[in-house]
Amino acid sequence: MAVGLNRLLVATLPLLPKALVGLFARTYVAGDTPDQAFAAVKKLNDQGFETTLDILGEHVESTEEAETITEAYASLYHDIARLGLRANISLKPTHLGLDIQYDFCERNVFKILDAAQATNNFLRIDMENSPHTDATLQLYQRCLERYPRIGPVLQAYLYRSADDLGRLMNSPLNFRLCKGIYRESPEIAIQERSAINANFLALARQAFEGNVYTAIATHDVDLIRQVEELIREKNLESSRFEFQALYGVPMGGVLEELKDKGYTVRIYVPFGEAWHAYALRRAQENPNLAGYVLRNFLARLVKPSTG
Ligand SMILES: Cc1cc2nc3c(=O)[nH]c(=O)nc-3n(C[C@H](O)[C@H](O)[C@H](O)COP(=O)(O)OP(=O)(O)OC[C@H]3O[C@@H](n4cnc5c(N)ncnc54)[C@H](O)[C@@H]3O)c2cc1C
Repeated sequence: MAVGLNRLLVATLPLLPKALVGLFARTYVAGDTPDQAFAAVKKLNDQGFETTLDILGEHVESTEEAETITEAYASLYHDIARLGLRANISLKPTHLGLDIQYDFCERNVFKILDAAQATNNFLRIDMENSPHTDATLQLYQRCLERYPRIGPVLQAYLYRSADDLGRLMNSPLNFRLCKGIYRESPEIAIQERSAINANFLALARQAFEGNVYTAIATHDVDLIRQVEELIREKNLESSRFEFQALYGVPMGGVLEELKDKGYTVRIYVPFGEAWHAYALRRAQENPNLAGYVLRNFLARLVKPSTG
């Protein structure tokens, strides 16, 4: 879809009734409540997919809200264990108070990490926009000193990611590799899609050549095929990587195919009441995303999805 049309769509989104935005935003959100998210996870697990749960929200400004989210994430680990679900957790540092104060955010994430440890589960720290990269990697390193089942995210569009990966690889590493969702300046980020893809592959190669666990997070099927080629070239064991996709993004059977090859496939399942603000912010950050979402929504209207 043309960039101009995407931008027009983004500009109109805040003017639309919430219920209308919800119609397509909710395709990508598992529900408002943990129970709705657990039902989605159970269904995915039954289909052979691993999952990661994310409570929607970011950039909280009040300590009370960040503390409430901290409690919610901690109890999520206990619910996952109680229900026997195959799910770990992804969180955004600004949801836990990074914009308020680094130390406050770190204390909150440590509490969540304690719950991860108590239930022997994994925690992924999502990567937000570039003003937060250093603090997020510092947070990850501090968590790693306390508990090994933790992993960061690196964005292929950032020039710095090769150096970051090189440094992080000095310790045991389980990282997610994605293209990057935020709008970043040409001084620090690659802008052209083909060059981002080339860097994605270079980073995957760098990780595959080291002793690293890599989560390949992309819906770009050509890129997935090229990563598979690299996996074959390196004769990489399937215990060294997984593929990841966002809940609700139609992939035309590619995820099932990867799973049938014996690869781990994990679905990122966001849920929570903050879906409306989240959808608007995401769309404004990346107008192309609004284009995908609208296209997929219209396709579903014509041909209802089985989910
Ligand atoms: C599991 C997971 C976790 C992520 N975590 C982070 C993170 O922590 N930090 C970060 O900056 N970014 C994150 N991202 C987003 C990522 O960086 C990309 O911006 C996003 O996935 C779109 O790029 P793409 O790799 O799918 O390729 P693109 O080339 O952008 O998209 C390929 C195709 O996929 C489809 N598509 C892509 N996204 C969507 C969508 N949302 N809805 C419908 N169709 C879509 C379109 O058909 C498109 O043509 C994550 C992505 C995934 C899958």
